[in-house]
Amino acid sequence: MILTVTLNASVDIRFTVKEFRRGGVFRSTDDKQSAGGKGLNVTRVLAQLGAPVLATGLLGGSNGDFIATELDARGIEHAFVRIAGNTRVCIAILEEGVQTEVLGRGPNVSGAELEGFFSQFRRLLPRAKIVTLSGGLPPGVPAGTYGRLIEAAKGHGVAVILDTSGAPLAAGIKAGPFAVKPNRSELETLVNRRLDGEADLARAMSEIAQSGVENVIVSLGAQGALALVQGRFYRVTVPRIKAVNPVGSGDATVAGLAWGIYQGLEVQSALALAAACGVSNAMELDTGCIDPAAVEKLITEVKVERMAGL
Ligand code: ADP
Repeated sequence: MILTVTLNASVDIRFTVKEFRRGGVFRSTDDKQSAGGKGLNVTRVLAQLGAPVLATGLLGGSNGDFIATELDARGIEHAFVRIAGNTRVCIAILEEGVQTEVLGRGPNVSGAELEGFFSQFRRLLPRAKIVTLSGGLPPGVPAGTYGRLIEAAKGHGVAVILDTSGAPLAAGIKAGPFAVKPNRSELETLVNRRLDGEADLARAMSEIAQSGVENVIVSLGAQGALALVQGRFYRVTVPRIKAVNPVGSGDATVAGLAWGIYQGLEVQSALALAAACGVSNAMELDTGCIDPAAVEKLITEVKVERMAGL
């Protein structure tokens, strides 16, 4: 199965309002509470794709209970480690397609709780074919944590897809994950310079590959993606769509990629599936949500081509 890791899960609350401005009081026309955190978005999309998925990570308090109940209601298998602190809340205010977000920091995680998670991870690894590591880390969890998880997975011959940013991404790359999926701004932060055209992006991607990452996929929103797969560059072009809510498209991309690799698809098909999932998520109001029928159609509209001269 595909093992998804969410160390800083959240209860996502989305309010839809007609009008929003600082300092005002507004009544929502629609509100929704869901299990969130990037890893849980990946999990939900994998389940929608019909992939075998097991979700793990850290959950605590009544917010943690809510997430476990949500996963149960969807029939998604999970094996989280319980912690003393309460899982965070993230709030999104949606106003005519424009989203404003406030993200909770997350509970403090003790050293013993983190070690408990490492034990859990090692117990689950023998059942996993692919691991996805997504999102930021809660307070108390060191930046090198993903690196430790990658090393443990590699010891079992399990491929890891890493999708995070900042210090956890930089530290995780050193452990040589199978794939990373930064977006443009995450990649710019990583290499500490602005990346304008494709040549700039390609150079930065090569640098990451040289530090021991086999596959680098840089997602570029409506511009699709560039991928460096075992030394070959690909350009992924996506159809023009009316985006409803692109938040979580990167997570949907990771889910599509994981499912493509799991099924042993060849490179171009796996990249097309990944991109189609990203596009489908952008067409849905819910974050971390795809329409499997739309994905089938979008796959035929996504173009994946080798980049000449690279
Ligand atoms: P992230 O959520 O990590 O910032 P992106 O915004 O780059 O990721 O989106 C991931 C993928 O989702 C893109 O590569 C593309 O395939 C798809 N996507 C995102 N936004 C749009 C959009 N507005 N139109 C079409 N496809 C999109």
